[in-house]
Amino acid sequence: MPLLELQGVIKNYMKGEQIIPALRGVDLSIEKGDFLSIVGPSGSGKSTLLNIIGCIDTPTEGKVLYNGDDLTILSDKEKTFYRKENISFIFQSFNLIPVLTVRENVELPLIIEKKFSKTEIFEKVTKIIEIVGLEDMAERFPRELSGGQEQRVAIARALVKNPLVVLADEPTANLDSEMSEDIISVMQKMNEEIHTTFIFSTHDPLVQKHAKRVIILRDGMIASDERKNHGNAQ
Ligand code: ADP
Ligand code: MG
Repeated sequence: MPLLELQGVIKNYMKGEQIIPALRGVDLSIEKGDFLSIVGPSGSGKSTLLNIIGCIDTPTEGKVLYNGDDLTILSDKEKTFYRKENISFIFQSFNLIPVLTVRENVELPLIIEKKFSKTEIFEKVTKIIEIVGLEDMAERFPRELSGGQEQRVAIARALVKNPLVVLADEPTANLDSEMSEDIISVMQKMNEEIHTTFIFSTHDPLVQKHAKRVIILRDGMIASDERKNHGNAQ
């Protein structure tokens, strides 16, 4: 069974009396451990698709299944619970908290969950900070970091609770190509080592090059879906 399945997903936004179709019938099936990139021109529905996969928006029509369970019929409270347990977001603008150190920013999702002891939190955060290569920066503040380092903190924060799925909306859009390469290799490492599923929207050819699968969206529909055969693709 696929990890995640969209069936006939339609999303319309209303602008006054006018209907704006953002997704016009998307069928998509995603396996655990995929490293998938969604590309397409601005306005083609990439962000809408990620938001629906991430349960922060609901389709107008169609189903979203995780491990076979239809999420569109859950209450808001159940959806929030599901999302907190399973899904993490990485945003283009990093969204770090400026008055918190690197370590404190990364700790936040675990503190909110109220499931772990101080020692457990310290160990988990130390490990993920090491994986993204920021061990020397742990006590620094975001303003003391480069854009690439800030995005690495955002990745560490997204991964610290070991989510099933990481959704990233144009994660390299504000980075130069060297930093982008760096960020992608961190995500690839997580994908290979702990089989985290990554789904990212991007305009960046570099990100597309490293993806195992590339989906092209056009006018709210999947125009092409290509699985590549390099390296560790299944
Ligand atoms: P992309 O991320 O590929 O640029 P989006 O998913 O943001 O595309 O947008 C798809 C379409 O839906 C666009 O026409 C956009 O203007 C419209 N849209 C997106 N979000 C909203 C919203 N909250 N209200 C109204 N229209 C929206
Ligand atoms: Mg977008």
